[in-house]
Amino acid sequence: MESDLVKIDSLSFSYHTLNGETRALENLSFSVKEGEFLAIVGPSGCGKSTILSLIAGLMEPESGGITFYGKNGKKPGIGYMLQHDHLFEWRNIWQNVTLGLEIQHKLTAENKEKVKKMLDDYGLAGFAYKRPGELSGGMKQRAALIRTLALEPEILLLDEPFSALDYQTRLTVSADIARIIRAEKKTVVLITHDLSEAVSLADRVLVLSKRPAYVKAEFSIHLTLPDDSLLAARKAPEYSEYFNQIWEELSDETQ
Ligand code: ADP
Ligand code: MG
Repeated sequence: MESDLVKIDSLSFSYHTLNGETRALENLSFSVKEGEFLAIVGPSGCGKSTILSLIAGLMEPESGGITFYGKNGKKPGIGYMLQHDHLFEWRNIWQNVTLGLEIQHKLTAENKEKVKKMLDDYGLAGFAYKRPGELSGGMKQRAALIRTLALEPEILLLDEPFSALDYQTRLTVSADIARIIRAEKKTVVLITHDLSEAVSLADRVLVLSKRPAYVKAEFSIHLTLPDDSLLAARKAPEYSEYFNQIWEELSDETQ
């Protein structure tokens, strides 16, 4: 976890609408290291989703740059997962998780085997021929993640992927998803408004200011884990200290 995979340098971006200009980001700089799980928290409307859209290349920066340091100097593959990452009800789970591969004409025997293994490994083997509507919220989220991972992205951009789930489901699903992502050795940028999620899942947490966003504080998270149970991170002795510090940084911004 040494070298930068993405470097964001003095990034600025404004939205222009009939009602005028909204300055979303101003001189925002940070990097994402290879293999790291980075969480970004910040007040609502401060520009978090805008950052991910810019990294994903869906929009162009107004000024400043985003540099990628992928393998062989190539731009790394990017997987983008949103809060409402709908599966298509008219396709079964297998047809949903292989959709990206199908569109990109990469549904080879080898890739089918990989997807099948992920369904096995992540508890969905018996559900391949079910419709999304027959799965729990957590299972659907796992299926959406497998669909994203099937394209073998190096970086995963997750925009509040758990916020539509109820609290109990969310605890299990976020721990599940984190375990899968770590097993697949991906670099992750997770946007969340849930501080406990940020502290328990991430290697590093960035706290953004209110709009236009800049990085207000940064915390490297080191938890002493008593065991590897789902809620272990939240029981770590350091957990509440991080939580409180981040809470304070954030409440300065929301007052
Ligand atoms: P966050 O994800 O942190 O809640 P966003 O990045 O979605 O914030 O938005 C940042 C700011 O830009 C907000 O004030 C939002 O209202 C505004 N904004 C977002 N998308 C658009 C858009 N398509 N057109 C105009 N303004 C937008
Ligand atoms: Mg957002």
